[in-house]
Amino acid sequence: MSGQASTVIVGGGIWGLSTAYHLARAGSTDVVVLERNERLFDETTSQAAGLVGQIRATPLMRRAVRYAIELFTGFRAQTGHDPGFRQVGSLLLALTPERTASFAEHVEHANENGVEAYFVDGAEMSRLAPHLEPSRVEGGYFVPGDGYLDPGRCAEAFRAAAEDLGVRILTGTAATGLSVRDDRVAGVETDRGIFEAGRVVVTAGPWTGLLAKTMAGHEPAMVPIRHQRVTTAPAPAIPGHHPVVRVTDASCYLRPEGGGYLYGFFEPYPTTYDLEVLPPGFRTADIEEPVEVMDEARERLAPVFPILRGLEVTAYRRGLTTFAPDGAYLIGPVPGVAGLFAATGCAALGIAGSAAVGSWLANWVARGEPGEDLSPFDPERFGERAADREWVRRRAEEFYGDYYSVASMSVA
Ligand SMILES: Cc1cc2nc3c(=O)[nH]c(=O)nc-3n(C[C@H](O)[C@H](O)[C@H](O)COP(=O)(O)OP(=O)(O)OC[C@H]3O[C@@H](n4cnc5c(N)ncnc54)[C@H](O)[C@@H]3O)c2cc1C
Repeated sequence: MSGQASTVIVGGGIWGLSTAYHLARAGSTDVVVLERNERLFDETTSQAAGLVGQIRATPLMRRAVRYAIELFTGFRAQTGHDPGFRQVGSLLLALTPERTASFAEHVEHANENGVEAYFVDGAEMSRLAPHLEPSRVEGGYFVPGDGYLDPGRCAEAFRAAAEDLGVRILTGTAATGLSVRDDRVAGVETDRGIFEAGRVVVTAGPWTGLLAKTMAGHEPAMVPIRHQRVTTAPAPAIPGHHPVVRVTDASCYLRPEGGGYLYGFFEPYPTTYDLEVLPPGFRTADIEEPVEVMDEARERLAPVFPILRGLEVTAYRRGLTTFAPDGAYLIGPVPGVAGLFAATGCAALGIAGSAAVGSWLANWVARGEPGEDLSPFDPERFGERAADREWVRRRAEEFYGDYYSVASMSVA
């Protein structure tokens, strides 16, 4: 099998499908998405918790999440496909005076930047999340515009909308290399033949590093780090309005799921994966169930949500999120090969960022520029230090371990 397209997207996770949708919506419909699995979005995307929160440390990411919320809330009316966004808000809890002080800065800053946020008392916390034990909480604020969705359903909505507009999707087709002529992309080599294309976008999640290296000798400065969450058996009296709850001092988050709870954990000493030394067929499903680390998460959350101690865990979800040393995305043209783009370094924020990532990449491909200043995501921003893989790994692990620390959540 061989073929031709103006643009080939490698990877049918949420980033690739959002890029395909945005390209087609802008009028570039001669697009093919290649996915090596038989099923789309069956790797990192399918494992995610789907939290979409606007309290971000940088203006660029605040705008990105705001765009996601706009797109998700209007998507069904625009396309006929419902990403299932539940705008129930998020509740951020402080367990320490230091955290409570930092929250005052968050709330003020959010309101100054057009994001509604306000402090809530114990009674309101109990109304929002009846199993929460307010006496264990120092303070908390609520962001009503935030929410969550099922990431698979959202990726499926992007797929359906993209296909409606003419995008072609080929599953069971793995990219294996790049065809280059005069330093320009000429096509993608796959295990089923060559696909000629003038533009190639690599959105292969944790495999983006390996592919960019194979295709262009360029290794993005990121490492795949395992992240995890569980779902529990149903619990009584979880209301439909229950928001996402972030217990930042415990490095944990929680939301309703299937009548019970879903909770996740950014552990202080995470586990990094080196895909170069793993078998080529390695998949997310091969990652062991992180039982111990999720036991720790339950114990961290239990003072605030005592009910969790009595709820059976019904599923462990885990996947490889990718982290750059500074925790910001790595998105842009791949140096040395014109027409080749790559996007990785999702920092466990790739669902909330999926709309903007798709829009930026589509702009880049179709118009030659992303539509706003993406220098904070420049893949070359680390200069020569990027070659020191040990430094990249250490810094990325530190960033992950400090994900919800007071310092890393400070607003800019
Ligand atoms: C437990 C967990 C919880 C999370 N919670 C959240 C959250 O609440 N909010 C949030 O915003 N983010 C969250 N994330 C992060 C989010 O899941 C990712 O950022 C996002 O899914 C990245 O999407 P992707 O398309 O880049 O990668 P993927 O979904 O991994 O897709 C990449 C695709 O590329 C394919 N591929 C790989 N190699 C090839 C090849 N050679 N040829 C063709 N195809 C190839 C893969 O098979 C895969 O389907 C979470 C992640 C985890 C693991």
